[in-house]
Amino acid sequence: MVELLLHFTLPLTVLSYIYDFRREYKKILLISFLSILPDLDVLLCIHRSISHSIIPYTIVLAVILLLSKSSSVKLWSIVGYLAILSHLVLDLFTGLTPILWPVVPYSIFIETNIIALISTNTITPMFNVSFSIEETEFTRFTSFYAVVATSQGLAITVILLLPLILKAILAYTFRRELL
Ligand SMILES: [Zn+2]
Repeated sequence: MVELLLHFTLPLTVLSYIYDFRREYKKILLISFLSILPDLDVLLCIHRSISHSIIPYTIVLAVILLLSKSSSVKLWSIVGYLAILSHLVLDLFTGLTPILWPVVPYSIFIETNIIALISTNTITPMFNVSFSIEETEFTRFTSFYAVVATSQGLAITVILLLPLILKAILAYTFRRELL
């Protein structure tokens, strides 16, 4: 399971580099929160439920694109869709995910590892890609350890957001000096 913090941080970072955070921070934060939406299924005591399938989000996006006349709404709906998609793709590489349910009634897990065996005079790279497919069953759990943040995730978050924080501090400092 990818920790909740990284599901939030990754779209926040990507969107902050694409858009002007000071102008679009409300949309960027909203979409970053939207990307943790799939994991709210744990509140119903089911993890990786239909909320981890691309199908319902695709239907919602299609309806918005068909009904909305605003190009801004259409654009930010696509951005939100991609943010949710980032959650599903990350989960696909960490455990069984019903990414195409109910069209494909199986959960899929793609595991990739690149390891180097280092000895005194040789370096042997080893590549491992494996696919696990299991029939999807949505079963309720009685208890579940939800990983909100790990030390690695916190370190990655700080590294990713540091330029953004520094930029905000610089903008604030120089604006104050100019006043
Ligand atoms: Zn998830």
